[in-house]
Amino acid sequence: ELELIRRRHDAVGELVSQSNLRNGLRSRLSRVFDLERLIARVVTLRATPRELRQIGTTLGELPDISGLLANAGSLELAAQREPLEFCRDLRDELERALEPNCPATLANGGCIRTGYDQRLDELRDLASGGKQWIASYQQKIIAESGIPSLKIGFNKVFGYYLEVTNTHQARVPDWFIRKQTLKNVERYVTPELKEYEERVLAAESQALELEQELFQRVRDLARVEAPRLMAIAAALARLDVLAGLAELAVRQNYCRPEVHDRCETVIRDGRHPVLDLLQPLGAFVPNDTRLGADDGLIHLITGPNMAGKSTYIRQVALISLLAQIGSFVPAREAAIGIADRFFARVGASDELSRGQSTFMVEMTETARILNTATPRSLVILDEIGRGTSTYDGVSLAWAITEFLHELTGCRTLFATHYHELTRLDETFASIRNYNVSVREWDQKIVFLHKIVRGSADRSYGIHVAQLAGVPEWVNLRAQAILDHLEQGQPSSANGERTALAAGSGRAEIQLTLFAAADHPLLEKIRRIDTDHLTPISALHTISAWQRELGENAVTS
Ligand code: ATP
Repeated sequence: ELELIRRRHDAVGELVSQSNLRNGLRSRLSRVFDLERLIARVVTLRATPRELRQIGTTLGELPDISGLLANAGSLELAAQREPLEFCRDLRDELERALEPNCPATLANGGCIRTGYDQRLDELRDLASGGKQWIASYQQKIIAESGIPSLKIGFNKVFGYYLEVTNTHQARVPDWFIRKQTLKNVERYVTPELKEYEERVLAAESQALELEQELFQRVRDLARVEAPRLMAIAAALARLDVLAGLAELAVRQNYCRPEVHDRCETVIRDGRHPVLDLLQPLGAFVPNDTRLGADDGLIHLITGPNMAGKSTYIRQVALISLLAQIGSFVPAREAAIGIADRFFARVGASDELSRGQSTFMVEMTETARILNTATPRSLVILDEIGRGTSTYDGVSLAWAITEFLHELTGCRTLFATHYHELTRLDETFASIRNYNVSVREWDQKIVFLHKIVRGSADRSYGIHVAQLAGVPEWVNLRAQAILDHLEQGQPSSANGERTALAAGSGRAEIQLTLFAAADHPLLEKIRRIDTDHLTPISALHTISAWQRELGENAVTS
């Protein structure tokens, strides 16, 4: 819906230009918790005291966020304010009830604040006062009995007890009641100690029980508010998205795209949003796109391996997608006709466990595109038909392109190494050839990453194989076979194989991709007089060749 998309662009635009608003929102949003997750915990009765407290902390940020939005001009930002006014009572209650550093569990208490409930405060006083009493009782008994080492201890079985070492047994008064005998000590109780013990323990467990009750009551208050908390969570999420998109737009210098409903895409100096971030500033080569209407609906993009075809077609799709989610885009200018769907056929994967081979997956995905795409869709195809024999592949790719042109009629970017397909633009009105330019310079390939009109006639695959570290033998052999195939002599490639295996005819094989002439070293090798070469000068000569090769090594 164009209007909704533009409304988001307005909001992102406002956040881009109002840096105080953007920074203020982002710093407050960084302090809120994942409200949706917390609500789920509350409604399933699994929220811990700490989680309930996090809801309170989140609600505590709302007045500031709402205040920041008070002067927002864009509709989308202003619309988020209303939910932020919800749940004030709950916020106050959580603030009053829960300790700021709430424990993670209820088991040992300590989550309800002092002053929140009078009865709880009394029980806690009693529990801690009782402990104090025990300390002073110990002093009193020591004085009365004259046993200086007498201690009061506690265990779960016997409760509180007086402990007297065997050395002082003679001094134990007769009103001590014996409870337990250990190796070096005897344990006793007194009626007075027993009575206090009961009061302290009762107060402690009653406080714990009451705290649990109070906690559940507060949690129920939050539970009742779940729908309104969800509305708050949604508003915070929208603000987070808008502020995030605005921050990205500022940092990466994005522009506001124009969106319209014609089936046209025009991008000036577009960049791939991810590579643009990963590569050093200014390293990414921007590209223009004019797709649709007079500029052709289907662009066939050829060009060497590693030139940037995949990057380019993905970049166009990602820019279009960003524009449609309401984001600014990595380009100098963009006018994007919205698409009803984006289709991408990229990469090779299989679904072996579901009985599908790599090629089957490729064709299943292609079938889905051909059966579902409409004239309003945007399709990117990164190679089709590569998983089968060359003729099968080329025929399929050819027919698929015709289908997209004749029957679907949607904007399509098709990156391919089937140079045969570039002939399609002679027959079909809306197919255009593009290629990614490279320069051959000083026996090296320089990737310019620039999309230009026209088709490429080579893929330089062997060069890329060399860069990737494929053994030299394979590269030389591949080059020889390629030369023969290109001259239309497939059978003589076999003849070449015999020659190679026999060690003869090596001079025929080009050492580089671009120069048909011999490498200068070969001549030097031929001229060496091995009969008069000492081992040491042989080593020196080899080392000199290596240096020479190092200087001439082919790099990208
Ligand atoms: P292949 O045919 O082998 O799949 P390709 O033509 O699809 O190759 P990409 O995978 O798009 O090539 O690009 C290869 C690499 O070139 C990328 O990983 C990226 O690092 C670099 N590259 C691509 N486009 C650009 C660009 N516009 N600016 C800078 N670097 C780029």
